[in-house]
Amino acid sequence: MTDRLSADLPLTVEPARRRMHAGERTRVLDSPGFGQVFTDHMVSLRWVKGQGWCEARLSAYAPLTLDPSATVLHYGQAIFEGLKAYHQDEGGIATFRPDANARRFGRSAARMAMPAVPEDAFVAAVDALVDIDRDWIPTGAEKSLYIRPFMIATEAFLGVRPATRYLFLVIASPAGAYFPQGVEPVSVYISEDYVRAAPGGTGEAKAAGNYAASLLAQQQAAEEGCDQVVWIDAVERRYVEEMGGMNLFFVLGSGPHAELVTPELTGTLLPGITRDSLITLARDAGYRVTERRLSVDEWRDAATRGTLTETFACGTAAVITPVGHVQAKTGDFTIADGGTGPITLQLRQQLLDIQHGRVVDTRGWVHRVA
Ligand SMILES: *Cc1c(COP(=O)(O)O)cnc(C)c1O
Repeated sequence: MTDRLSADLPLTVEPARRRMHAGERTRVLDSPGFGQVFTDHMVSLRWVKGQGWCEARLSAYAPLTLDPSATVLHYGQAIFEGLKAYHQDEGGIATFRPDANARRFGRSAARMAMPAVPEDAFVAAVDALVDIDRDWIPTGAEKSLYIRPFMIATEAFLGVRPATRYLFLVIASPAGAYFPQGVEPVSVYISEDYVRAAPGGTGEAKAAGNYAASLLAQQQAAEEGCDQVVWIDAVERRYVEEMGGMNLFFVLGSGPHAELVTPELTGTLLPGITRDSLITLARDAGYRVTERRLSVDEWRDAATRGTLTETFACGTAAVITPVGHVQAKTGDFTIADGGTGPITLQLRQQLLDIQHGRVVDTRGWVHRVA
């Protein structure tokens, strides 16, 4: 069976001969957790220098065969994306802004000296996987299928230069509600010992190595009794950048005249698609939204004075996560009463309603797959 990812890229479809038994899959979908069980299929494409993308395949999910000298294993040329497919309340299946993921993947690839996957082929590869594994999308509030496109350098060579061979893969895993017991604020630890990203570095790219470099700081945050690490800028060590793998928003004031502040994209922040969507949703809801730098001192002072009423983090995996308590070497503080604020809940609900097709999509964000 042959399909097509783009005009010049045929997709060979080899349906898996063995699939997870329906009963077992139903058990998995009842409480999927996150990133533990993968669907029956995957998409794979090869890139060879001088030839371009080739051998596009939709086939059974299976281990890869890699040469031990494959450059990704030594120098870390690896990038990824994350997006979700949702059951729509009226029936059918949709993903959320996959074109934005495709564009960001292209920018990440350029930063890591990797080849660009044509954006239409990226979206078509995701569509093909979601379509064949649609029975893997859990139904129920806030459940989804998490899709992980990624690219690695596969050339067998220990020299330090961009590889001449790459593999682009798309895999998927059912995801449960991030907060099955209701939205719970997290505590955060401001990392003064470690840096996530520096000017000119790879912080803007969704590069695998960024995560490797973040694990020790996350471990330190946990040792300090906090759920998550908050990164501050590498140069002045004053400005708040991100929380773990999520972007941050601060609410100044309350009610319809509240202002939302989110750290501006200085080149060291990952430009989140959730962040971008929330800026639009908040503005459409009548709030003023400002992209600017915000220091730890301003965060603490405004929270202590009560002018800062809410803080939340956002990203594809957890949608919106409220921040309740902040721990720092320079002094701890609590956001309002440490609970979940009304604007946090309002925006969270609005975004989920769009993603699950419960409200009309006026912005062209919802991409129907089936
Ligand atoms: C992926 C990611 C985000 C969130 O991006 P979304 O597109 O909203 O999922 C934020 N920060 C980092 C470091 C990330 O890797």
